[in-house]
Amino acid sequence: MSNAPLIIVGAGHAGGRAALTLRDEGYTGRLILIGDEPHLPYERPPLSKALLQGSMDLAGCSLCDSARLTELGIEHIAGHPVSRLEPQHQRLQLADGRWLDYAGLLLATGGRARRLPQAQANVLYLRTHDEALTLRSALRPGTRLVIVGGGFIGLEVAATARGQGCQVCVLEAGPRLAGRVLPPVISDALLALHRAQGVEVRLNVALESIHAGAVQLVDGQRLPCDLVVVGIGMQPNIELAAAAGLDVGQGIRVDAYLRTSAPTVYAAGDVCEFRLGGLYQRQETWRNAEAQGRHAALNLLGRALPFEALPGFWSDQYGWGLQTVGVVTPRVISRALSDDGVLLFYLDAEGYLQGACGWALGNRVAKDIKLCERLIAARVALNEASLAEPDVSLKHLLRG
Ligand code: FAD
Ligand code: NAP
Repeated sequence: MSNAPLIIVGAGHAGGRAALTLRDEGYTGRLILIGDEPHLPYERPPLSKALLQGSMDLAGCSLCDSARLTELGIEHIAGHPVSRLEPQHQRLQLADGRWLDYAGLLLATGGRARRLPQAQANVLYLRTHDEALTLRSALRPGTRLVIVGGGFIGLEVAATARGQGCQVCVLEAGPRLAGRVLPPVISDALLALHRAQGVEVRLNVALESIHAGAVQLVDGQRLPCDLVVVGIGMQPNIELAAAAGLDVGQGIRVDAYLRTSAPTVYAAGDVCEFRLGGLYQRQETWRNAEAQGRHAALNLLGRALPFEALPGFWSDQYGWGLQTVGVVTPRVISRALSDDGVLLFYLDAEGYLQGACGWALGNRVAKDIKLCERLIAARVALNEASLAEPDVSLKHLLRG
């Protein structure tokens, strides 16, 4: 390895985790973490939950404090976007004109909130800490809030805003909530829960325009409101890599080692497009940012380990917990849990567990999903009747 530093572009979750892992793994060379946000690396899940509610602050979401970065000798360049990458010369340029050489590079540039093409007056988005603070200050008792998008941002903001006493209306373009990632039974449970909590949820909605004081639908209806929040998906920050000639698809394309098409350049987190189940895809989850951030750090150190982690995510709304692990298959077994909760098991053709999804009051599914993860890893042949039976403990099944 040359004397040039290892550089990480994107000081979010994956980038921050990679920097900390490099030091944990004994890398003693120069290490630079560059981010365009003015903050220490932080985790985003609280932005729509505890931080938006006001029960957590930025320090509570941060991966470490600045004293720790200094102690570890991680040079954090905050508030400075990287504007150009020249992989053939192993160097990059900051927007302020500075050039930096690197021996190895990790691109962990995440994504930004997808914008609506319609007019933007009084519209808020939620991706960053600063956007969360702006939104938090607008959520007052009685505020009439229209949320465009019934995905995770939309639903978690709706739940938090109800807790702040806002009047909330969610507009979803598709026929069900979070329809691309959740099975119908969970979408239906979410719909029932939000309606029971006083949220007006409209499905199959087409938006015409947004004005100060109202949202106009294509069918002619006008929804008066004080505030509009848009959560219609994430756009990966691939431009830097694409302009540098790296292979990109819907994200920065990597091989099994999280290595991009340029030597010594890796990618991790939301921006990383990798092969999962034979298909190139991105995972926009905490778990993936954590696992790939760690993994890319190991491979930057020359370990050459293939990335094999299971996908998964969670959501919390009104004290209910959703958790998933693994992949979805067509063979689904459902187990009813107390208080209308449900656990779904996804089996392959031979009866081995490939994935699971749970929804229940409190955090009880966390334990079940952990056990499912162990069942997937252990490759225990499972009996459908036992899976469906709430009285058969998953621990018991694990023991075979
Ligand atoms: P990011 O965290 O987005 O970090 C990328 C960083 O790179 C950003 O700071 C970006 O500004 C910076 N950057 C981009 N381009 C440049 C450049 N050219 N130069 C310098 N810096 C650059 N997942 C779950 O599993 N469960 C949840 O409950 C959950 N809740 C969420 C709630 C919210 C509100 C959001 C927004 C996301 C949530 N997620 C959740 C998803 C999870 O937070 C993301 O998957 C994770 O943050 C991805 O990490 P990342 O490091 O890849 O990207
Ligand atoms: P998302 O989960 O992709 O959901 C966007 C939703 O908006 C989809 O249901 C989509 O419907 C709908 N939509 C798209 N265009 C629309 C329009 N014009 N009008 C009305 N609805 C429209 O994205 P998100 O909720 O914005 O979240 C952004 C990112 O944050 C994602 O990476 C997400 O994973 C992450 N996040 C995760 C969590 C979690 O895991 N708990 C929590 C918050 C945020 P169609 O699918 O039919 O297009």
